[in-house]
Amino acid sequence: MSGPGLIRAGVLAAARACLQALFPPRCGACGAFFHPRPHARPAAAQGDLRAILAPLLCGACLRRVVPLEPPLCPRCGVSFRGRSGPDRLCGDCRREPPPFAAARAAFAYEGPLRELVHAFKYRGRLRVGRVLGRCLEETWRRYPEAAGVELVCPVPLHPRRLRERGFHPVEQLLRRWPGPPVRRGVLIRIRPGPSQTGLDRAARRARVAGAFRVAQAEAVRGRRVLLVDDVLTTGATAAACTEALLAAGADGVAVLAAARAL
Ligand SMILES: [Zn+2]
Ligand SMILES: [Zn+2]
Repeated sequence: MSGPGLIRAGVLAAARACLQALFPPRCGACGAFFHPRPHARPAAAQGDLRAILAPLLCGACLRRVVPLEPPLCPRCGVSFRGRSGPDRLCGDCRREPPPFAAARAAFAYEGPLRELVHAFKYRGRLRVGRVLGRCLEETWRRYPEAAGVELVCPVPLHPRRLRERGFHPVEQLLRRWPGPPVRRGVLIRIRPGPSQTGLDRAARRARVAGAFRVAQAEAVRGRRVLLVDDVLTTGATAAACTEALLAAGADGVAVLAAARAL
């Protein structure tokens, strides 16, 4: 950085520190005022998923966030929490393997992380979306099965839902995406998603089957696709999107999400 650049960066950092001392941010989960840890940035640079969230959460909430770490099911990405040993297939994937080759998510969808996702998706806190987007990138970097993907398809919203919400959460997460090109409009939603809360896996799969279609088959034919969603719950939506992509000739589909229900 040049001399004037360094001075400008120093002035900005000092101004930010003053502002934070005067107006400390509120925790995105519990609402408490807190002072972000000053060393959060270097830790984030080393790829610590929890540290990336440090500007958004107080210390107590940050400690309750659960990054999904090995051992994992290599197929659906579920984490065998608190256990040791190598990665292994989970019971669900052994009984009924999903159509996608693999799925990974950054965090367990619970506690403070769930609050952050709600603030972003339902209350339009776009700054939270930017930070979750960085978590998505970091998870992708640690995801060997996604190494050969050639394009990224966000799980689409139905146009009516997009009008109601005013923004597309998954596309927001991908705004600064540094990986393979993001292709919007390749995969489209032809039926709006009814509320799926409280439904089990089989019922969700039945509801979303046939809800998606590939509008530009030439974009996916013979290619490996990374399908990105904000939250994986039962995997039913990801499975329906994958089936549409495979039917259009995609060579394989890997799934990436910011959070996953366990
Ligand atoms: Zn908190
Ligand atoms: Zn599994």
